[in-house]
Amino acid sequence: MEFQLTEEQLHWRAIARDFTEQVIKPDVLRRDRLPTAEERIPWDWIRAADALGLRTLGVSKEFGGVGVDIATMCIVGEELGVGDLGFAVIMDQCWKTAHLFADAMTPEQQQRFIPPFVADPEATTAIGITEEGVGSDHQGYYDSPDIELHMSAVRDGDDYVLNGTKRYISNGSMARLYFIIARIDKTKTLSEGGAVFVIPHDTPGFRAGFFHEKSSQRLATNGTFHLEDCRVPVTNLMIGEGMLGELRGKYLPGSKSEAAATVLGVGRAAYEYALDYAKQRVQGGKPIIEHQAVALMLGRMAMSLDAARLQIWKAAWLADRGHPDARVHGLLAKVNASEAAFETCRLAAEVLGGAGIMHEHPVEKYLRDAASFLHSDGTNQLCLLRAVRAISSQDGAELYGF
Ligand SMILES: Cc1cc2nc3c(=O)[nH]c(=O)nc-3n(C[C@H](O)[C@H](O)[C@H](O)COP(=O)(O)OP(=O)(O)OC[C@H]3O[C@@H](n4cnc5c(N)ncnc54)[C@H](O)[C@@H]3O)c2cc1C
Repeated sequence: MEFQLTEEQLHWRAIARDFTEQVIKPDVLRRDRLPTAEERIPWDWIRAADALGLRTLGVSKEFGGVGVDIATMCIVGEELGVGDLGFAVIMDQCWKTAHLFADAMTPEQQQRFIPPFVADPEATTAIGITEEGVGSDHQGYYDSPDIELHMSAVRDGDDYVLNGTKRYISNGSMARLYFIIARIDKTKTLSEGGAVFVIPHDTPGFRAGFFHEKSSQRLATNGTFHLEDCRVPVTNLMIGEGMLGELRGKYLPGSKSEAAATVLGVGRAAYEYALDYAKQRVQGGKPIIEHQAVALMLGRMAMSLDAARLQIWKAAWLADRGHPDARVHGLLAKVNASEAAFETCRLAAEVLGGAGIMHEHPVEKYLRDAASFLHSDGTNQLCLLRAVRAISSQDGAELYGF
């Protein structure tokens, strides 16, 4: 067993850590409190991250990206999450879709869609599944024709015509390129009759809607957008009928571990801030860290963050090796990391006492941010149900994973 990071991982961790310290941290609290989603979009940070290679971290070298593995994306995601969860999510969406670029696209699609994405320093991507009537239901635990995923794709000659509305989508309405799930055949289950289309933002019929206002990940957008008689050539179909199950199973093997790593970063930021505070804040005649009640809270935070990190790295390691159980380990890692981060933020707020909720300190923001991952990327309940279903199936997933 080897716990040593590679030279490449140390290199990217240093770049991301520096970006967090030099670029994000000095201005993040001000930006977080700007009143509208539009003014909070960190276009300048996206450009700066692009210049360092962070935006295209997952894109293969062949197409001008960096082409790191999933484990490295987790390491970088944690560092960016220490700075700001919303910004880490903006980047992570680009990393997730880099897997789609590499593995789900035809060579013709790769030539058409990857170069413009790489060339544009402000380009981000989005995956549009959720609609008003379909949230947990699209996670695949319940899969019937009556699931209310209404986005439709109707074949017309050499085109598909798409109609429907998506909501809550990360990078939605600000992204340049969309991966959109629509139903080709409404009489079938979503996994049988659904498909994934690649749709650039400037396709006629694509209409950006509004950004949801929210308490978490405030620098990232969650958009609602509409497709209105949006006509795309059949060659924009990326994952076809009967193959939708492959989206999560085969083409997004690291997505849960990557998401878990970003929220782990929030927990770490809260822990580091609380540790520092506890060394300096004096009550009862000594720094509060010398009161056992406070020390025990800090110990609990350190313990759960470290366990969560090891679980994320294990899940990423399995995903990088194409292990069939990587998906289950990713689901478990996401649930554990989001709970560990949320609990750490709660304890950090207690260590700070009244300062925990004051705007002079970042802990109230960490707590708001950590709350988002209890349900984003699949609610924790659904993630656990899916993991247990896989574990208990006939060829049950192997929890040792090696
Ligand atoms: C910050 C953020 C980013 C997001 N980004 C994206 C994105 O990029 N793309 C995208 O497509 N979507 C995105 N979403 C949507 C996200 O996938 C959904 O919010 C999530 O799947 C839950 O759906 P819901 O909010 O409708 O909750 P619901 O499905 O209404 O769930 C409500 C409650 O019921 C429980 N529940 C529901 N069904 C079951 C069941 N069968 N068994 C047991 N319990 C159940 C849930 O666990 C939860 O406790 C994002 C959401 C957030 C908050």
